[in-house]
Amino acid sequence: MTLSYLRRSLVFLLLIAISALSLSPGIAQENFEQQREALIEEVAEDLRRSEAILEPTELDPRVLRAMKTVPRHEYVPEKHKHQAYRNRPLPIGYGQTISQPAIVALMTNLLELEPSDKVLEIGTGSGYQAAVLAELVDQVFSIEIVPELAERAARDLKRTGYNNVTTRQGDGYYGWEEQAPFDAIIVTAAADHIPPRLLKQLKPGGRMVIPVGSRFMVQHLVLVKKTEDSDILTEQLLPVQFVPLTGEH
Ligand code: SAH
Repeated sequence: MTLSYLRRSLVFLLLIAISALSLSPGIAQENFEQQREALIEEVAEDLRRSEAILEPTELDPRVLRAMKTVPRHEYVPEKHKHQAYRNRPLPIGYGQTISQPAIVALMTNLLELEPSDKVLEIGTGSGYQAAVLAELVDQVFSIEIVPELAERAARDLKRTGYNNVTTRQGDGYYGWEEQAPFDAIIVTAAADHIPPRLLKQLKPGGRMVIPVGSRFMVQHLVLVKKTEDSDILTEQLLPVQFVPLTGEH
């Protein structure tokens, strides 16, 4: 074996190693896209079959597209990334979770959003739900009570290009007075009652989805509609399980 042969073999091996390194993120990315497509199709199908409980049972094509676009793996901690496209909530630290894709799709669908809508989210968490909303409307405002999560979500939303989401740290129970009124409000933590300030900050004709119930009792997803005359109509939709809405209230 000559020295030049050895040297050439080494160079060759090195080249393979480099190309494998540069290829692997690409392969992983493609894999995530396929997994996401499959998961969201499954979610849409489950919803279609749930006819008995919900109206509408079809995901709005725009919601479907948003769910297929937002890279959920970008909002999940490194050690759970491989599970990002399972239809389940995942831990994001500080005792909190990123919601299950099916529930994100369902809640977003219930808001019946228009592109020009201004939306408020309570409970930014990972930022995933905010990103889905940001695919659908011009302006999203989102409040998170845990400072570390608020900071991380703001960073992740910026990194993934969602510049139409404005976040802040604070107690979402009181809403976001300076930005009110909102066409739609989504609360992603369970409260034992509907916060009155949120009702106030909802536009006439607006919609809110909120899990209502206490930590150890059954919670229900509630759809709130404010009529053009500012009457409040509520509809209890289905049992759900969310982390509690915390704070001083
Ligand atoms: N929408 C999130 C779900 C996060 S879980 C996502 O897509 O990942 C609910 C979040 O609500 C948690 O991060 C929790 O810290 C937050 N939260 C609880 N009480 C709150 C309050 N009073 N104001 C704002 N955020 C609150």
